[in-house]
Amino acid sequence: MVLTKYTPMMQQYLRIKAEVPDAFLFFRLGDFYEMFFDDALKASKELEITLTARGGNKEDKIPMCGVPYHSAAAYIEKLIDKGYKVALCEQTEDPKHAKGVVKREIVQMITPGTAVTTVNDRENHFLGSAVQLNGERYSIAYLDLSTGESKASVVESEDLLLQEMSLIKAKEIILPASVSEKLIGKFRDRGITSISKVEQEELFFDETLLSLLEGEEVKRGISLLLHYTTDTQKRALDHLQQTEQYEVSAYLQIDPNSKRNLELTENNRSGAKKGSLVWLLDETVTAMGSRQLKSWVERPLINQSDIKERLGLVESLKNHFFERESLRELLQNVYDLERLAGRVAFGSISPRDLVQLKKSLQQVPFIKEQLKEIPDNGLIKRADEMDACIDLADLLDAAIDDQAPITIKDGNFIKDGYSEELDQYKDASRNGKKWIAELEQKERSITGIKSLKIGYNRIFGYYIEITKANLTSLNDDRYERRQTLANAERYITPELKEKETLILEAEEKSVELEQQIFQVVREHVKQEIPRIQQLAKEISEIDVLQSFAFVSEKRHYVKPVFSKTKQLDIQEGRHPVIEKVMNMNEYVPNSCKMDKERSMLLITGPNMSGKSTFMRQIALISVMAQMGCFVPADYAELPVFDRIFTRIGAADDLVSGQSTFMVEMLEAKHALEHATDNSLILFDEIGRGTSTYDGMSLAQAIIEYVHDSIKAKTLFSTHYHELVELSSKLKRLKNIHVAAAEQDGKVVFLHKVKEGPADKSYGIHVAELAELPPSLINRANELLTLFEAEKEAGESREQMTLFDITEKTAVDESAVLKEIQELNVLEMTPMEAMNELYKLQKKAGKLLAESK
Ligand code: ADP
Ligand code: MG
Repeated sequence: MVLTKYTPMMQQYLRIKAEVPDAFLFFRLGDFYEMFFDDALKASKELEITLTARGGNKEDKIPMCGVPYHSAAAYIEKLIDKGYKVALCEQTEDPKHAKGVVKREIVQMITPGTAVTTVNDRENHFLGSAVQLNGERYSIAYLDLSTGESKASVVESEDLLLQEMSLIKAKEIILPASVSEKLIGKFRDRGITSISKVEQEELFFDETLLSLLEGEEVKRGISLLLHYTTDTQKRALDHLQQTEQYEVSAYLQIDPNSKRNLELTENNRSGAKKGSLVWLLDETVTAMGSRQLKSWVERPLINQSDIKERLGLVESLKNHFFERESLRELLQNVYDLERLAGRVAFGSISPRDLVQLKKSLQQVPFIKEQLKEIPDNGLIKRADEMDACIDLADLLDAAIDDQAPITIKDGNFIKDGYSEELDQYKDASRNGKKWIAELEQKERSITGIKSLKIGYNRIFGYYIEITKANLTSLNDDRYERRQTLANAERYITPELKEKETLILEAEEKSVELEQQIFQVVREHVKQEIPRIQQLAKEISEIDVLQSFAFVSEKRHYVKPVFSKTKQLDIQEGRHPVIEKVMNMNEYVPNSCKMDKERSMLLITGPNMSGKSTFMRQIALISVMAQMGCFVPADYAELPVFDRIFTRIGAADDLVSGQSTFMVEMLEAKHALEHATDNSLILFDEIGRGTSTYDGMSLAQAIIEYVHDSIKAKTLFSTHYHELVELSSKLKRLKNIHVAAAEQDGKVVFLHKVKEGPADKSYGIHVAELAELPPSLINRANELLTLFEAEKEAGESREQMTLFDITEKTAVDESAVLKEIQELNVLEMTPMEAMNELYKLQKKAGKLLAESK
């Protein structure tokens, strides 16, 4: 582009725009942020604002649109929500002193991952990063810029990388420039659309932030991330906490699909929190507690002593109702310390925020006291360790007025008595108001005009106002006219102006001084950010623990115990969320027993009987136990699971709308690949997405595979009744079913889980209850008998094809050839073809054996 054909300002614009080709450049022009060229075309559409044009030099009009400076935040948020980036370009010198075009610079980049939102947000906003090491290994990291917390890890596969980034719901991902398009595509498939590349990868300069990390590999992801944030933010980031290292394998792993199936953090229908496990468990009082709770739900533990520690604390809090209730009340007055600390670092903290900080800190001694009332050494220890930052609270209390406004613009937030100098100015300005009142009295008596009054406005300052009716009585050459209104005249006098100068000067100085004091206080708070963050962490944990205790008591949960022999024994268990939605008394509790000899359960039962609910209930109880919460049951003895997999048959997977059988198979593969004998697998109607025999064969093959090779605890629901026979062959597989019954001519779902397979003629029975024509019912029964007989006859054939060939009949070569010739290959499913081939191979083997 030939710059010279533009005005100097447009040339400046184009130079700056070239620095940020992938962001909207908000170019400050007076009271507006303007956008030009393509930015303007795109922004006018996205933001629904008017597109105008600006005259370039002599040539065509340049597309332009703009948003007012004071309402820009809302527009920026809209663009960020849509996954765009915004570069804020400000005037960096006073236009009055500018020679030529006013200097401008990008002062901040706002991107989906770095946008810092409102203070009481109960969600984390993570920015993620990944750097490929060797093979499929990645150095990964994530950071919440508003709270300053960050984590880093090395994961062993691309699968895990994607899993982690979906788990934290990364708003934006930072990758090295060398990253493959294929990987970017995979992020996009998972809904992470905002991806930024960093040209040069190097280790981060601030080693203290990385000092908790072991080895160089784990530092690479977080380095990239920190480079990116310091580059784009161009502002103080003093609140960044030391990056913590974590191991994916230290937590119960639940892949994103399973997390969705189990509705851990959001419901399956709308994706909202309501109806999820988090929704049920979140009785936290503070915003930081709420965020902490979500992260505990997403990452249940696998270290038994850590789990037991949490359970112990929950138990004590549960058993001390009154102490817990007053603790909850105290927490009510604790604001979001983490985000307040962030604002201090950004320099965006307001006087009112500091009052909130003070009030929060002032609660802490009471919180500590309350915790110590409960006879539990763990709680007492936590209370003892809490640093209430009393010095800070005292400073804030002395300096900042409780009624402080949200801006520092007009002063009025530093307490009287904090600064002698400030008090003097304040006196002057307060006295000034008295002087004015006295002057008003004096002028009234001099002029004899009783309605004379002294007023103030921004343009003329102080003035004396006299109504038109009284003007005739005014005869005083001290009075100088300043303004004429419809029914009054406004004057000034030398004395009035003199007082005005004194008053305004005092006010101005006092505002200035207040602002100075504010900076000093803020700097002081800034030094203490790590202490505030530590306290925030301790309080948020207490908040989560009390929340678990609160819910556990209210819903009559019990403390789970962990089995040394890896057995699972849940007595009268309930599905926590359905139970809550339904009303506690309507939910039918069910028990479940599994151990080494009984590691797989095949669940049959009619539609809507409660198979899926039962399976999820087992998983949810396990997840809750491992995050340290009590569980909905009368008794629960559980193994510590390492991973949980849930696969939902394609036909049941209403959410994703992906009715493709392929997705189901890929998910099954994922489970089969990663499950261990310490895992829990839920296969819900798998194989349903394809034709009957095909699906059934697959279902059986999967069951056999898990039974023989994986030995994970597995719940397998199916509507293929034929599969119930399997229990005679697979010794660790047992049948259970969900019972339904007939009552007064109606089907009643008892939702009761019982041993053994379900009754098979159930469908016809239901049809009968629905009063279908008797002749039709008779015919159905007839057909059923026929099919059964046919099946029995064909049983040997079918079993042979699939499982154990025990063919006794002699085989002759021409018959086999004929059989091959008659195969209708085009009509066969791959599975059928495999079976056929297998059969033929066996026959060939026999022929060869006989011919010897
Ligand atoms: P299936 O998977 O067998 O088709 P679901 O598990 O989807 O059945 O359950 C169907 C409905 O039955 C659920 O939406 C729930 O309202 C109800 N239900 C399931 N289990 C129970 C139970 N134990 N007690 C009460 N109602 C239940
Ligand atoms: Mg179901």
